[in-house]
Amino acid sequence: MAISAADVSPLILFGGTFDPVHRAHISCARAASKLFGNAPVHLLPNAHPPHRDQPMTLASHRLAMLEIACEAYPSLHICDWELQQPGPSYSVETLAHFRRDIGEQPLVLLIGADSLATLDRWHQWQRLPALCHLLVPPRPDQTQFPPVVLEAFPETSAEELSALPAGRRVMLKSPHLDVSATAIRTALAEKGECPALNPDVLDYIRRHQLYNVGQTTLNDEDS
Ligand code: ATP
Repeated sequence: MAISAADVSPLILFGGTFDPVHRAHISCARAASKLFGNAPVHLLPNAHPPHRDQPMTLASHRLAMLEIACEAYPSLHICDWELQQPGPSYSVETLAHFRRDIGEQPLVLLIGADSLATLDRWHQWQRLPALCHLLVPPRPDQTQFPPVVLEAFPETSAEELSALPAGRRVMLKSPHLDVSATAIRTALAEKGECPALNPDVLDYIRRHQLYNVGQTTLNDEDS
């Protein structure tokens, strides 16, 4: 159920590598916005993710693709704050920064269920419940979560979450999309296309020859 405009809108942040941004990212961000009465959602590409492989693509390209993918959606905004910071992109530092700015306003971190499943390995994750809420869209086959994380962020409704600054968790039932950037990068290298990409993002990838797009096809044609 969407929250009425009379409620205090939370600040919603959606961090990620976005390498490249895909249909599931946009669907998750739009679902989060809708849940809170078309509240703005801020997508934050990270510079050096500390707990996963480094991005394959330059930040400038990831940013440009995000701008293309979000263009049609006025509630989606891109924030390059993490890209401006030196060193690893620790979510806890980003959240502490925004918390200082907004005082007691609710702060929501949108993370996929795969991220929730590994949250207890994030840098200083125990500080997170004092800083933000979690809004968690499902991800196929991801139903097991560390009990310590579930206990640290008790599940609640969107309405209750909006009345508190931080420390609660809302689990979304949708979107349920079997899409990942990893599979997209493979599809681009092997087939030169992927239906889970915005066509204008695909066009950008082709123009800039990102993700070894179509390399296999080219090599096959060479032989
Ligand atoms: P990769 O395959 O390279 O790990 P990804 O598709 O998971 O990439 P990220 O940029 O790493 O994309 O993810 C940013 C955020 O989006 C994370 O919180 C992740 O859990 C979430 N997310 C990505 N894809 C989905 C999806 N299909 N459903 C729900 N959440 C998703």
